[in-house]
Amino acid sequence: MDKILIATKNQGKVDDFKVLFEPKGIKVISLLDLDSIEDVEETGTTFSENATLKSEAIATLLNMPVISDDSGLEVDALNKEPGVYSARYAGLEKDDEKNIDKVLENLKGVEEKDRTARFVCAIAVSEPGKETIVKHGYCEGKILYERRGENGFGYDPIFKPEGETKSMAELTPKEKAAISHRGNALKKLADWLEQQ
Ligand code: IMP
Repeated sequence: MDKILIATKNQGKVDDFKVLFEPKGIKVISLLDLDSIEDVEETGTTFSENATLKSEAIATLLNMPVISDDSGLEVDALNKEPGVYSARYAGLEKDDEKNIDKVLENLKGVEEKDRTARFVCAIAVSEPGKETIVKHGYCEGKILYERRGENGFGYDPIFKPEGETKSMAELTPKEKAAISHRGNALKKLADWLEQQ
């Protein structure tokens, strides 16, 4: 492999993958470098399925290695909602604030010990003619009663990682990367890459 496409337009994500691949002499490109290609519908019921749908479709289309990730929040007291619907939990328009309000509303009356949740990240690597590899990362924690902190995005202000006193949105980006679901999935991907 001498080149890989990261199926995202998020420069932050692209940079995370560059750190892994470029020291190995593998050039990293992303959807920011291409003419737009048609969106792949995320019709799967798991993070792994959605990541794989996208990486396989684009790998076939472009005939090159492709990485895609899918992530979200699972809240135990809500039957693992919002799950694969994390980005659009409160409606078709992606709205982090409304999504947070909906989780807090649905957890009204749920006591602290039952507010367990986790962030999940699945990273899929597809190469034409090869079986897709999927690596998972998790970050266990609890849902707070109200927002805390300004960093991060999505559900970070209401998520307190296990073993931390701060919310995810009160951690620095570096502190978050060290414990996050995406950070953990990236570590597994790095281990896999070492063995190639
Ligand atoms: P995506 O996989 O980047 O599309 O993320 C899906 C959705 O999951 C986001 O829109 C957020 O609502 C949520 N999510 C994923 N990762 C995080 C995170 O690190 N912090 C907070 N929310 C997240």
